[in-house]
Formats: sequence, structure tokens, C-alpha cells
Amino acid sequence: MSAHQVNTWAAASPQGRLDKLSYISPTLPHTHVQIQISHCGLCASDVHLIDGDWGDASVFPQVCGHEVVGFISQLGAEVQGLQLGQRVGVGWYKSACLECEFCRMGDEQHCSALIATCAHGERGGFADYLTCDGRFVFPIPERLTSEHAAPLLCAGVTVYTALKRATRPGMAVGIVGVGGLGHLALQFAAKIGCRVTAFSSTAGKRDEALLLGASHFVEMTGPVDRPVGSEDLDFILVTSAAACNWPSLIAKLRPRGTLCFAGMPPPVTLDISAMMYKTLSVTTANVGGRQDIRDTLAFAAEQQIQPWVQQWPMDQVNAAIDQLRLGHVRYRAVLHNPVAIAPGVFAPAPPVC
Ligand SMILES: [Zn+2]
Ligand SMILES: [Zn+2]
Repeated sequence: MSAHQVNTWAAASPQGRLDKLSYISPTLPHTHVQIQISHCGLCASDVHLIDGDWGDASVFPQVCGHEVVGFISQLGAEVQGLQLGQRVGVGWYKSACLECEFCRMGDEQHCSALIATCAHGERGGFADYLTCDGRFVFPIPERLTSEHAAPLLCAGVTVYTALKRATRPGMAVGIVGVGGLGHLALQFAAKIGCRVTAFSSTAGKRDEALLLGASHFVEMTGPVDRPVGSEDLDFILVTSAAACNWPSLIAKLRPRGTLCFAGMPPPVTLDISAMMYKTLSVTTANVGGRQDIRDTLAFAAEQQIQPWVQQWPMDQVNAAIDQLRLGHVRYRAVLHNPVAIAPGVFAPAPPVC
């Protein structure tokens, strides 16, 4: 299968606007698939990469996009379990060794041979095509539309993996932040069967939080009071990137409770003695392994969990980024390539000599 041209949107320099940029993707390896991209989510991590916030992770021209959904337009001869034309997704990474300690335990995201989808010089999904290792491509369940599946591949798997590992039905869970991650976490936690309290600094998000599955809403301005009718919490998932009154949140946890960060706030100072008194844990969430991605897609399809999305054509990616920077997106931005949005419509990229 011949080399082909890929048309992307790339930032030429840190914090730059995205412009059209084409590159030649080499002959498809037998183990890989070519995906004609129909949708790609826009994640806060993409903006960090565009801004050069994560050092070597950005390589300019930087092509972001790691919530990729599309149709398999070329299939390597050794790829198993996938078909030409199949609707599939790709998340934060597009290959790993599958042999090391972490890969064997299903934590492929920690593999030292990990190939990220759009970092360290890899060119991601703000494009018309993406080529990747067939073992890191996930069929999209029929019940999920492509625009709803895209944000599940990074934001969704991040919050669901944290929740599925730490919670069970009947637990009292707090979700801090009602935004790109938080609005998904509220839905997942409620569908797991947890009793959910939403925390937000925006009082106007109360109705939305309740609609998304919270049974209580707490407006966070200054110290966080216990909401009327609520109880102490077993697990708090911080989904916001904003600083917060951490001591008063810690005070909401029951003994053996856990504070888990999925958002990335500024450095946090915690009162260890107060935590020790209740044997509290602090942990973090990340993008999960391959099985976590499959579980997230399956659970979302089964439980009808639906990201709230705003869509832009791919060529308006800069407008979408502007809205994300302003905090105006409700709640996930998704870019789409108009030529490929109908299910089953795909075309391999034309070969180049
Ligand atoms: Zn590995
Ligand atoms: Zn992401």
C-alpha cells in the first residue's frame, strides 16, 4: 500500500494559530490501519501541546488531536479483528510494546515504548487521515454516534477508569468541576450507582449538574460547606484545573476516603496530619489502558452516557480553540471532516509516488 498525502492543521510555533500543512505518510506497515477521520475531539491537552507547556512533548509544527473517530480506509495484511470501512476510534496513544510489565497488566499507557497519538513528533487527528497500529484501534459501538464517541476516547476513559476502579454502587462520590471532564464524570458516577454531589464555582451550573446525575450541588466559593441533605464522601474526583479550597474538600471525606485528580490544578498543598487522622489517600487519573478504553465505550453505549458536544468543521479549528481557551465550550469541542461524516463512507487516501 503506497505512501499517501495527509492534510493536517498544525501550529508552526508555540501558541501559534493552526495552518494547513501536508505531509507524506509512508507505505502502510502490515500491522497498521489507515483511518479516514470523520471526527476528532479537541482536548485541553491539545492546547497544552500547542502552547508548548509540556517541554519535549511538543514538536513544531505540532499537529494535535487524540480523540479520533473515523473509518478504516486501508487495512494492513496482518491486522486482526478489524475490517475495511469499520468505524473505529483512537485515543491518547497509538502503539506500545505489549510485552513489558505495564503492557502485560493492561496499563499500556505506562509503556516506555509508548507512541502517543499527537505528541513527541507524532502527528495526530486534526487531519483527514491517521495511520496507526491496528492493536490500538477500537471499534465504536453502534449505539454511540461518532461525535459522542470522540470525547470518550480521552476525557471519558480518564474519568470512567478512575471511577470504576475506586467506586461501587451506593458509594457517596463528589465530582469537583462541571466542565469537559466533570460533566462526563457526573454521568458515569450516577450510572455506576453512586450518590453524587457536584461541586462548582458557577452557581448557574446547578440545574445542569442535577440533570447530569448529581443529587446535590455545592457552589464552591471559599470554604466548602456540607450541602444540606448530603453526607460525607467516599471518593472525590477533581476534574477542574482551578485552584480549590483543598482543606475543606479533604474535610468532606470519610475515613479511608480518596481524593483523586483528573484535572490539573496548580500545585496543591495538603495537610498530611488531617489526612492521616482519617487514613485518606490522594491519587491521580490518566488515560487508562486498552481494556479501559473498550470498557468506557461499552459502558457509555449500554448506559446511554452522552457527552455534551459543540461541533466545528475541521477548517474552523482555530475558532474552536478560541472558545475552549475562553471556557465557553459546553462541554466538549468536536471537529468534523464533512466529507466523511456518513457511516460507512470512506475512501483511502490517494497514493503518491
Ligand atoms: Zn510495553
Ligand atoms: Zn485528552
